[in-house]
Amino acid sequence: MSLLVVGSVALDSVETPFDKIDDALGGSATYISLASSYFSAPVNLVGVVGSDFPKTYIEMLEEHNIDLEGLQKIEGEKTFRWGGKYHYDLNVRDTLFTELNVFENFNPIIPENFKKSRYVCLGNIDPNLQLRVLDQVPDPQFVVCDTMNLWINIMKQDLLKLIKRVNVFILNDSEARLITEEPNLIKAAKLIREMGPEILIIKKGEHGALLFTNDTIFSAPAYPMEMIFDPTGAGDSFAGGFIGYLHQTRDLSPENIKRAVIYGSTMASFCVEKFSTKGIEDLSYLQIQDRFREFKKISNFNESD
Ligand code: AMP
Repeated sequence: MSLLVVGSVALDSVETPFDKIDDALGGSATYISLASSYFSAPVNLVGVVGSDFPKTYIEMLEEHNIDLEGLQKIEGEKTFRWGGKYHYDLNVRDTLFTELNVFENFNPIIPENFKKSRYVCLGNIDPNLQLRVLDQVPDPQFVVCDTMNLWINIMKQDLLKLIKRVNVFILNDSEARLITEEPNLIKAAKLIREMGPEILIIKKGEHGALLFTNDTIFSAPAYPMEMIFDPTGAGDSFAGGFIGYLHQTRDLSPENIKRAVIYGSTMASFCVEKFSTKGIEDLSYLQIQDRFREFKKISNFNESD
Protein backbone atom coordinates (compact mmCIF):
# COMPACT_ATOMS: atom_id res chain seq x y z
CA MET A 1 0.00 0.00 0.00
CA SER A 2 1.41 3.33 -1.08
CA LEU A 3 2.03 6.55 0.72
CA LEU A 4 -0.47 9.35 0.03
CA VAL A 5 0.87 12.91 -0.15
CA VAL A 6 -1.23 16.04 -0.52
CA GLY A 7 -0.06 19.64 -0.67
CA SER A 8 0.93 22.40 -3.03
CA VAL A 9 2.64 21.96 -6.36
CA ALA A 10 4.09 25.35 -7.14
CA LEU A 11 6.18 27.62 -9.25
CA ASP A 12 8.48 29.46 -6.86
CA SER A 13 10.44 32.67 -7.26
CA VAL A 14 13.22 32.65 -4.72
CA GLU A 15 15.87 35.19 -3.86
CA THR A 16 18.79 34.37 -1.57
CA PRO A 17 21.96 36.38 -0.84
CA PHE A 18 23.65 34.18 -3.48
CA ASP A 19 21.24 33.96 -6.40
CA LYS A 20 17.73 34.46 -7.69
CA ILE A 21 15.44 32.14 -9.62
CA ASP A 22 11.95 32.50 -11.14
CA ASP A 23 9.25 29.88 -11.75
CA ALA A 24 11.31 27.07 -10.27
CA LEU A 25 9.62 23.86 -9.23
CA GLY A 26 8.35 24.05 -5.66
CA GLY A 27 5.40 23.29 -3.42
CA SER A 28 4.99 21.25 -0.28
CA ALA A 29 3.67 18.12 -2.04
CA THR A 30 6.49 18.28 -4.57
CA TYR A 31 9.26 18.31 -1.96
CA ILE A 32 7.55 15.71 0.25
CA SER A 33 6.95 13.33 -2.66
CA LEU A 34 10.48 13.64 -4.02
CA ALA A 35 12.10 13.15 -0.61
CA SER A 36 9.91 10.16 0.27
CA SER A 37 10.31 8.56 -3.17
CA TYR A 38 13.83 7.38 -2.19
CA PHE A 39 12.26 5.21 0.52
CA SER A 40 8.82 4.13 -0.55
CA ALA A 41 7.97 4.55 -4.21
CA PRO A 42 5.39 4.71 -5.70
CA VAL A 43 4.22 7.81 -3.89
CA ASN A 44 0.64 8.89 -4.59
CA LEU A 45 0.48 12.65 -5.03
CA VAL A 46 -2.74 14.67 -4.77
CA GLY A 47 -2.62 18.30 -5.85
CA VAL A 48 -3.46 20.76 -8.60
CA VAL A 49 -1.59 22.69 -11.31
CA GLY A 50 -2.58 25.00 -14.15
CA SER A 51 -1.97 24.64 -17.88
CA ASP A 52 1.26 26.64 -17.50
CA PHE A 53 2.92 23.88 -15.46
CA PRO A 54 5.99 22.70 -17.41
CA LYS A 55 5.96 19.19 -18.84
CA THR A 56 9.60 18.70 -17.85
CA TYR A 57 8.60 18.96 -14.17
CA ILE A 58 5.89 16.33 -14.68
CA GLU A 59 8.42 14.04 -16.34
CA MET A 60 10.95 14.47 -13.54
CA LEU A 61 8.33 13.61 -10.90
CA GLU A 62 7.25 10.54 -12.88
CA GLU A 63 10.87 9.41 -13.16
CA HIS A 64 10.85 9.28 -9.36
CA ASN A 65 7.94 6.86 -9.49
CA ILE A 66 5.50 9.49 -8.20
CA ASP A 67 1.98 8.56 -9.30
CA LEU A 68 0.30 11.71 -10.64
CA GLU A 69 -3.20 10.31 -11.16
CA GLY A 70 -4.35 12.61 -8.34
CA LEU A 71 -2.70 15.73 -9.79
CA GLN A 72 -5.52 17.76 -11.34
CA LYS A 73 -4.62 19.98 -14.29
CA ILE A 74 -6.97 22.96 -14.74
CA GLU A 75 -6.90 24.15 -18.36
CA GLY A 76 -6.70 27.91 -18.84
CA GLU A 77 -5.68 28.60 -15.26
CA LYS A 78 -2.36 29.37 -13.62
CA THR A 79 -0.38 27.22 -11.21
CA PHE A 80 -0.02 28.30 -7.55
CA ARG A 81 2.90 30.73 -7.25
CA TRP A 82 4.95 31.69 -4.24
CA GLY A 83 7.78 34.19 -3.91
CA GLY A 84 10.23 34.35 -1.02
CA LYS A 85 13.35 36.24 -0.09
CA TYR A 86 15.99 35.05 2.38
CA HIS A 87 18.16 37.32 4.49
CA TYR A 88 21.86 36.80 5.29
CA ASP A 89 20.61 34.84 8.25
CA LEU A 90 18.99 32.15 6.13
CA ASN A 91 16.62 31.26 8.97
CA VAL A 92 14.82 34.51 8.24
CA ARG A 93 12.53 34.53 5.22
CA ASP A 94 10.03 37.05 3.89
CA THR A 95 7.13 35.88 1.77
CA LEU A 96 7.05 38.33 -1.14
CA PHE A 97 3.81 37.07 -2.70
CA THR A 98 1.37 34.16 -2.64
CA GLU A 99 -0.81 33.72 -5.73
CA LEU A 100 -3.35 31.00 -5.03
CA ASN A 101 -4.52 30.71 -8.67
CA VAL A 102 -5.72 27.09 -9.16
CA PHE A 103 -5.90 26.67 -5.37
CA GLU A 104 -8.75 29.18 -5.11
CA ASN A 105 -11.33 26.61 -6.25
CA PHE A 106 -9.43 23.42 -5.58
CA ASN A 107 -11.47 20.44 -4.49
CA PRO A 108 -9.12 17.56 -3.74
CA ILE A 109 -10.46 14.29 -5.12
CA ILE A 110 -8.65 11.17 -4.03
CA PRO A 111 -8.52 8.55 -6.81
CA GLU A 112 -10.18 5.27 -5.82
CA ASN A 113 -6.95 3.28 -5.56
CA PHE A 114 -5.28 6.00 -3.43
CA LYS A 115 -8.05 5.73 -0.80
CA LYS A 116 -6.61 2.51 0.61
CA SER A 117 -3.49 4.39 1.76
CA ARG A 118 -2.62 3.75 5.40
CA TYR A 119 0.19 6.36 5.58
CA VAL A 120 -0.85 9.91 4.75
CA CYS A 121 1.24 13.07 4.66
CA LEU A 122 -0.79 16.29 4.72
CA GLY A 123 1.67 18.84 3.34
CA ASN A 124 1.25 22.52 3.97
CA ILE A 125 -1.96 23.86 2.38
CA ASP A 126 -5.22 25.35 3.65
CA PRO A 127 -6.21 23.17 6.66
CA ASN A 128 -9.73 22.80 5.24
CA LEU A 129 -8.29 21.11 2.18
CA GLN A 130 -6.17 18.88 4.43
CA LEU A 131 -9.37 17.95 6.30
CA ARG A 132 -11.22 17.20 3.05
CA VAL A 133 -8.45 14.81 2.06
CA LEU A 134 -8.53 13.05 5.40
CA ASP A 135 -12.31 12.66 5.11
CA GLN A 136 -11.81 10.64 1.91
CA VAL A 137 -9.33 8.15 3.37
CA PRO A 138 -11.41 5.64 5.35
CA ASP A 139 -8.75 3.85 7.36
CA PRO A 140 -5.48 5.75 7.79
CA GLN A 141 -3.02 4.22 10.22
CA PHE A 142 -0.48 7.03 10.41
CA VAL A 143 -1.15 10.66 9.50
CA VAL A 144 1.56 13.32 9.45
CA CYS A 145 0.59 16.97 9.10
CA ASP A 146 2.67 20.06 8.35
CA THR A 147 1.51 23.67 8.35
CA MET A 148 2.78 27.26 8.27
CA ASN A 149 2.33 30.58 10.09
CA LEU A 150 -0.21 31.84 7.53
CA TRP A 151 -2.80 29.19 8.52
CA ILE A 152 -2.17 29.70 12.23
CA ASN A 153 -2.84 33.40 11.69
CA ILE A 154 -5.95 33.17 9.54
CA MET A 155 -7.48 29.70 10.10
CA LYS A 156 -6.47 28.66 13.59
CA GLN A 157 -9.81 27.04 14.48
CA ASP A 158 -9.77 24.84 11.34
CA LEU A 159 -6.19 23.88 12.05
CA LEU A 160 -7.05 22.92 15.63
CA LYS A 161 -9.88 20.74 14.31
CA LEU A 162 -7.45 19.04 11.95
CA ILE A 163 -4.63 18.32 14.39
CA LYS A 164 -7.01 16.38 16.64
CA ARG A 165 -7.06 13.78 13.86
CA VAL A 166 -3.34 13.44 13.11
CA ASN A 167 -0.64 11.29 14.68
CA VAL A 168 2.28 13.59 13.99
CA PHE A 169 2.24 17.37 13.78
CA ILE A 170 5.30 19.10 12.35
CA LEU A 171 5.94 22.80 12.67
CA ASN A 172 8.83 25.14 13.25
CA ASP A 173 9.80 26.88 16.47
CA SER A 174 8.20 30.24 15.69
CA GLU A 175 4.97 28.50 14.60
CA ALA A 176 4.92 26.49 17.85
CA ARG A 177 5.17 29.75 19.80
CA LEU A 178 2.52 31.38 17.60
CA ILE A 179 -0.08 28.61 17.94
CA THR A 180 0.31 28.37 21.73
CA GLU A 181 1.25 31.97 22.59
CA GLU A 182 3.90 30.36 24.80
CA PRO A 183 7.54 31.44 24.34
CA ASN A 184 9.10 28.37 25.99
CA LEU A 185 9.31 25.53 23.47
CA ILE A 186 9.06 22.73 26.03
CA LYS A 187 5.88 24.20 27.49
CA ALA A 188 4.58 24.95 23.98
CA ALA A 189 5.19 21.33 22.98
CA LYS A 190 3.20 20.10 25.98
CA LEU A 191 0.30 22.39 25.06
CA ILE A 192 0.31 21.29 21.40
CA ARG A 193 0.33 17.60 22.33
CA GLU A 194 -2.70 18.28 24.54
CA MET A 195 -4.43 19.58 21.40
CA GLY A 196 -4.36 16.08 19.86
CA PRO A 197 -1.23 14.79 18.11
CA GLU A 198 0.64 12.18 20.16
CA ILE A 199 3.87 12.98 18.34
CA LEU A 200 5.15 16.49 17.80
CA ILE A 201 8.19 17.60 15.86
CA ILE A 202 9.48 21.13 16.22
CA LYS A 203 11.97 22.09 13.51
CA LYS A 204 14.59 24.66 14.40
CA GLY A 205 15.92 25.55 10.96
CA GLU A 206 19.67 25.03 10.75
CA HIS A 207 19.73 24.10 14.46
CA GLY A 208 18.09 20.69 14.16
CA ALA A 209 14.74 19.38 15.34
CA LEU A 210 13.05 18.29 18.57
CA LEU A 211 10.85 15.22 18.77
CA PHE A 212 8.27 15.04 21.56
CA THR A 213 6.42 11.82 22.33
CA ASN A 214 4.65 10.53 25.40
CA ASP A 215 7.67 10.08 27.58
CA THR A 216 10.63 11.34 25.58
CA ILE A 217 12.24 14.38 24.11
CA PHE A 218 14.75 13.59 21.38
CA SER A 219 17.03 16.29 20.06
CA ALA A 220 18.16 15.70 16.48
CA PRO A 221 21.30 17.56 15.47
CA ALA A 222 21.60 19.76 12.45
CA TYR A 223 24.07 18.69 9.79
CA PRO A 224 27.01 21.12 9.88
CA MET A 225 26.87 22.60 6.41
CA GLU A 226 29.36 25.06 4.99
CA MET A 227 27.09 26.03 2.15
CA ILE A 228 23.36 26.46 2.41
CA PHE A 229 22.23 27.59 -1.00
CA ASP A 230 18.43 27.71 -0.77
CA PRO A 231 16.49 26.68 2.36
CA THR A 232 13.16 26.49 0.48
CA GLY A 233 11.54 23.12 0.92
CA ALA A 234 13.79 22.00 3.77
CA GLY A 235 10.79 21.51 6.07
CA ASP A 236 8.87 19.58 3.43
CA SER A 237 11.90 17.44 2.56
CA PHE A 238 12.19 16.69 6.28
CA ALA A 239 8.55 15.55 6.35
CA GLY A 240 9.11 13.44 3.21
CA GLY A 241 12.20 11.68 4.56
CA PHE A 242 10.46 11.13 7.91
CA ILE A 243 7.25 9.54 6.61
CA GLY A 244 8.97 7.83 3.68
CA TYR A 245 11.30 5.95 6.01
CA LEU A 246 8.47 4.99 8.39
CA HIS A 247 6.36 3.80 5.48
CA GLN A 248 9.25 1.76 4.11
CA THR A 249 10.02 0.08 7.43
CA ARG A 250 6.40 -0.17 8.70
CA ASP A 251 7.86 0.17 12.20
CA LEU A 252 6.34 2.80 14.47
CA SER A 253 8.42 1.94 17.54
CA PRO A 254 9.94 4.89 19.47
CA GLU A 255 13.50 4.02 18.31
CA ASN A 256 12.45 3.84 14.67
CA ILE A 257 10.64 7.17 14.95
CA LYS A 258 13.93 8.70 16.13
CA ARG A 259 15.70 7.17 13.12
CA ALA A 260 12.97 8.62 10.90
CA VAL A 261 13.67 12.09 12.33
CA ILE A 262 17.32 11.67 11.32
CA TYR A 263 16.30 10.52 7.81
CA GLY A 264 14.10 13.62 7.66
CA SER A 265 17.04 15.80 8.64
CA THR A 266 19.19 13.97 6.09
CA MET A 267 16.80 14.77 3.23
CA ALA A 268 16.50 18.40 4.40
CA SER A 269 20.29 18.72 4.38
CA PHE A 270 20.45 17.57 0.74
CA CYS A 271 17.58 19.88 -0.19
CA VAL A 272 19.29 23.09 0.93
CA GLU A 273 22.49 22.38 -1.01
CA LYS A 274 20.94 23.47 -4.31
CA PHE A 275 18.20 25.74 -5.59
CA SER A 276 14.60 24.53 -5.81
CA THR A 277 14.24 20.74 -5.86
CA LYS A 278 17.64 20.14 -7.50
CA GLY A 279 19.26 18.94 -4.27
CA ILE A 280 16.86 16.00 -3.95
CA GLU A 281 16.42 15.08 -7.61
CA ASP A 282 19.50 12.94 -8.22
CA LEU A 283 20.46 11.16 -5.03
CA SER A 284 21.48 7.56 -4.58
CA TYR A 285 20.39 5.45 -1.63
CA LEU A 286 24.11 5.09 -0.78
CA GLN A 287 24.54 8.88 -0.48
CA ILE A 288 21.51 9.02 1.81
CA GLN A 289 22.89 6.22 3.97
CA ASP A 290 26.33 7.89 4.20
CA ARG A 291 24.86 11.15 5.37
CA PHE A 292 22.55 9.37 7.81
CA ARG A 293 25.70 7.82 9.37
CA GLU A 294 27.37 11.25 9.51
CA PHE A 295 24.45 12.41 11.63
CA LYS A 296 25.14 9.56 14.03
CA LYS A 297 28.83 10.46 14.21
CA ILE A 298 28.30 14.12 15.02
CA SER A 299 25.98 13.42 17.94
CA ASN A 300 27.68 10.35 19.43
CA PHE A 301 29.70 10.66 22.63
CA ASN A 302 31.01 8.46 25.43
CA GLU A 303 29.93 8.99 28.99
CA SER A 304 33.54 8.51 30.20
CA ASP A 305 36.88 7.33 28.74
P1 AMP B 1 9.22 25.14 3.32
O1 AMP B 1 10.48 25.88 2.91
O2 AMP B 1 9.46 23.71 3.64
O3 AMP B 1 8.45 25.87 4.36
O4 AMP B 1 8.26 25.11 2.04
C1 AMP B 1 8.40 25.95 0.94
C2 AMP B 1 7.35 25.62 -0.10
O5 AMP B 1 6.05 25.93 0.43
C3 AMP B 1 7.53 26.44 -1.36
O6 AMP B 1 7.95 25.60 -2.41
C4 AMP B 1 6.15 27.06 -1.61
O7 AMP B 1 5.69 26.87 -2.92
C5 AMP B 1 5.22 26.39 -0.61
N1 AMP B 1 4.26 27.33 -0.03
C6 AMP B 1 4.49 28.59 0.40
N2 AMP B 1 3.36 29.16 0.87
C7 AMP B 1 2.37 28.23 0.72
C8 AMP B 1 0.96 28.21 1.03
N3 AMP B 1 0.34 29.28 1.54
N4 AMP B 1 0.27 27.09 0.76
C9 AMP B 1 0.91 26.01 0.24
N5 AMP B 1 2.22 25.97 -0.07
C10 AMP B 1 2.95 27.07 0.17
